[in-house]
Amino acid sequence: MEQGEKMNLVEVERIHKDKERLEELKIRTKNCCCRYCGGKLNLRRILYGVTNNGRVEIFCDECDRIEYGTNQEIYEIAKYYVDEFEFNHYPDNDDSLKTYQMNVAKICDIISWGCKNLGILDYDGFKVPININDTIMGEEVIIYKADMNSEVEIRDMDEDAIFGRQTGVETCL
Ligand SMILES: [Zn+2]
Repeated sequence: MEQGEKMNLVEVERIHKDKERLEELKIRTKNCCCRYCGGKLNLRRILYGVTNNGRVEIFCDECDRIEYGTNQEIYEIAKYYVDEFEFNHYPDNDDSLKTYQMNVAKICDIISWGCKNLGILDYDGFKVPININDTIMGEEVIIYKADMNSEVEIRDMDEDAIFGRQTGVETCL
């Protein structure tokens, strides 16, 4: 194989991977909420240096962080679990909203990990119909069915703007 042709294939492969990743991020932005605050997610293109090239990431404006997100149903049962059983994985932290949110995010990760390993959850949502107990969901919680055909806006964001901000922890999903 010619060197040039080989380079081309690598490039094609990279573009293909980037596209796949972007599609995955778009689906998660529509389907998921922030694991910390339960807020809506957005797509941001984080621009590095002067090249104007950027990597697209899912972002929570409320928490000001890069965030992979979780399905809203998982967020609701995680929140219920933390409230009901006073779960605290961070006993050395102060009793702040931030600690509470970190605990909810931790339970989201555990539930997601379990569901994924049971084969009922993928990056684009549940593979089986789910039915959550009304007590857990509460009356005020409405799960919206996302319009999967709608476009997701990607906003540019300067790398400096997120310098020093805490990014989402590695997620196991
Ligand atoms: Zn958030």
